[in-house]
Amino acid sequence: MSLMKLAMAVACVAATVTASAQVQQQPPPTATTKVEGTDNVYIFRYQGHQSMFVVTPEGVIATDPISERRPVKAYIDAIQAVTKAPIKYVIYSHSHLDHIAGGKAFKDLGATFIAQKNAKARIEEVKPADVVVPDEVFDDRKVISLGGTTLELIYVGKNHSDNMLVMRLPRERIIFTVDWIPLQAVQFRGMADTYVPDIEEGLKKVIAMDWDRIIPGHPGPGGRQIGTREEAINQLDYLQDLSAAVKKAVSEGKSYADAEKEIKLPKYESWGGYGPFLPMNIERYYDYWNRGI
Ligand SMILES: [Zn+2]
Repeated sequence: MSLMKLAMAVACVAATVTASAQVQQQPPPTATTKVEGTDNVYIFRYQGHQSMFVVTPEGVIATDPISERRPVKAYIDAIQAVTKAPIKYVIYSHSHLDHIAGGKAFKDLGATFIAQKNAKARIEEVKPADVVVPDEVFDDRKVISLGGTTLELIYVGKNHSDNMLVMRLPRERIIFTVDWIPLQAVQFRGMADTYVPDIEEGLKKVIAMDWDRIIPGHPGPGGRQIGTREEAINQLDYLQDLSAAVKKAVSEGKSYADAEKEIKLPKYESWGGYGPFLPMNIERYYDYWNRGI
């Protein structure tokens, strides 16, 4: 066999192995990723959810426990694989249980739980056993300083819940905020617990803030874990386009069913959830324009 033929044969076998590996490959259930260009910012992914944690010499600032109906140990182990420093804080992005369940194990390690004040009332209403009620709440703004890292907790008003935080690392120019600024996706299902049109005002406030990268609560297409300012700008464009189209349909006397069938927003066709969720997003805005709710 000539060298060329041998090289081709090897390449061919390699390609076959790669192809079969791709077919069989499932992403592992959990993964820890250090955010490129930072010294101490990590993303912990647990199946389809993700949280940010920040490691400092004086301790760890963790966010959402993301352990509804699954062992929270995976998240704690992921942190302790990076540092033995104590977990000082757990900060809730917002009150939705799929993001905040599982905090008890963090509490047992001595963490202080912080949330926006409206989250506390909601959590107390629906609280399952493994959800920790926040120890500290605040209204508009709070700054956490720990081991040389500053994390701002900012409330920009109602959007996806009445208690969503934007967590901003000013030095790293990164924000972490969950569910309402997805990566290349329409809003989830019927936009439950989402305030319209307040969410659009919130997006304008986030766009006006100083940051470069966003860590959302779920990976996007292809497993992408981090977005750019474009995500917020595009999401605002989407909601404004959706709102205008639904407003027009309502003003023309269209029914829910006709609005949901006829409105197409081809610019966003490639986004996650476009097929199943666009009609549900339309219904949410239909209620707003038709009834003011
Ligand atoms: Zn949510």
